[in-house]
Amino acid sequence: SDARLLEIRIMAYGDRQLLLIARDITRIHQLEGMRKEFVANVSHELKTPLTVLQGYLEIMQGMEEENSPKAKPLKLMQQQTERMQSMVEQLLALSRIEDASDINLSSRVDMDKLMQQLKEEAKALALNNYQVDFSWDKGLNSHGDELQLRSACINLISNAIRYTPPGGKITVSWRRVATGGLFSVTDTGFGIAPQHISRLTERFYRVDNARSSKTGGSGLGLAIVKHALSHHHSELSIQSELAKGSTFSFVIPNHLLSSPH
Ligand code: ADP
Repeated sequence: SDARLLEIRIMAYGDRQLLLIARDITRIHQLEGMRKEFVANVSHELKTPLTVLQGYLEIMQGMEEENSPKAKPLKLMQQQTERMQSMVEQLLALSRIEDASDINLSSRVDMDKLMQQLKEEAKALALNNYQVDFSWDKGLNSHGDELQLRSACINLISNAIRYTPPGGKITVSWRRVATGGLFSVTDTGFGIAPQHISRLTERFYRVDNARSSKTGGSGLGLAIVKHALSHHHSELSIQSELAKGSTFSFVIPNHLLSSPH
């Protein structure tokens, strides 16, 4: 149809006047929709060829002697294919999460269970190289989309581990505060310089340092976190100091919590 989408801003202008600005954003909205669909389709289409490559690379590796001249390049090819696969997975996760239409905020999320599971996953990721401390207020449950909340939490936890040198400490907590339920992840890692902090949740934004290039991430993790949180009326807050560590946290507002009975 030829319905238009308008963005309207009303501003106070002097004491007694209002300024009304209307902008036609129909086209921007259409383009944004096309971008999302394109990314989702391309990521989906890339999955099959990557699986085929991965499979044959594994077979070829199995046929080489350990110190044959082909062993090393094959290993590198396999690592890069794995990396592409995980980027494609993250792109798909991001497009699913960006699409808010099917989110159901009325289902209950058992946070005791979720924290217990996150604790086990964190231990598996940390591989005894880190001290991992979990604590939570029992019975402080939430409403929302469990998969999205889990994905927000696990992204923050895996970042904390990836950007902290072995021997460091990761502290994860979920507790009641005046404004709702506060989830936070603190690490004793590399930290982030202040000029980068406001851009970290942008798609593909990665801090250009030796650590980021070594960890081989996609720069999509925090974009996923941001979208998942915004569906739960929450936003990510980041405190960090270079060479000291970081805290990533968010508050699930009171109206989404279900208090213990
Ligand atoms: P990725 O980790 O795949 O690069 P993310 O979106 O998860 O992408 O993170 C974006 C960037 O933010 C990372 O490249 C890293 O530089 C920085 N970052 C995220 N979490 C931490 C952390 N806990 N400590 C230090 N830097 C971090």
